[in-house]
Amino acid sequence: MSQLELIDQIDALLPQTQCQACDYSACRPYAEAIVNGQATIDRCHPGGIDTLTAVAELVSIDPAPYLDTVLTQYRAPTRVRIDLDVCIGCVKCINACPVDAIVGAPKQAHVVIDSLCTGCDLCIEPCPVDCIEQVALDDAADVVSHEMRDQSRLRYQAKQRRLQLVQEKKTLNYANAKQKIQEMGVL
Ligand code: SF4
Ligand code: SF4
Ligand code: SF4
Repeated sequence: MSQLELIDQIDALLPQTQCQACDYSACRPYAEAIVNGQATIDRCHPGGIDTLTAVAELVSIDPAPYLDTVLTQYRAPTRVRIDLDVCIGCVKCINACPVDAIVGAPKQAHVVIDSLCTGCDLCIEPCPVDCIEQVALDDAADVVSHEMRDQSRLRYQAKQRRLQLVQEKKTLNYANAKQKIQEMGVL
């Protein structure tokens, strides 16, 4: 199996909340770090014992030494809710959400789309008025389902591509503007 295939297979076992609790920017970078020998297999907080044992089996590592850490840091699936009466429509949560699970326009109340929210909590800290709260789930089956994982992976990838395109456009606009100024003899 190639390194890329192994990364794909490990990524497929990760919860895809994109929560960064593993200290990597998303699930796939963590999978890459495992394959590159830079990260241990016990760093996925939402994954719990199921993810640990699945990854351990795939990479042929004994999971026993990691059980205590994984049990201690395990975080049950949640979602978040926005208090519509307090939200000031600053858009910071939309920018922070890795899977585009929040909708709203500037200066208008924002809403979380439950079926897209992975419970990563990355929107909570940037909110300037503390109007986003965690919601415990009675039934976590949807959040941990393979369909949800696939959806979250695709939405994360789509957001990353969109951000990259925006950055490329900014860089191009800057280069064009600089060239024009140089042609005018200002620089
Ligand atoms: S779910 Fe969170 S902690 Fe687990 S691999 Fe993905 S980003 Fe890392
Ligand atoms: S709405 Fe918040 S908790 Fe839900 S996925 Fe987006 S950033 Fe994460
Ligand atoms: S960060 Fe908070 S105040 Fe700003 S739009 Fe989101 S929920 Fe509303």
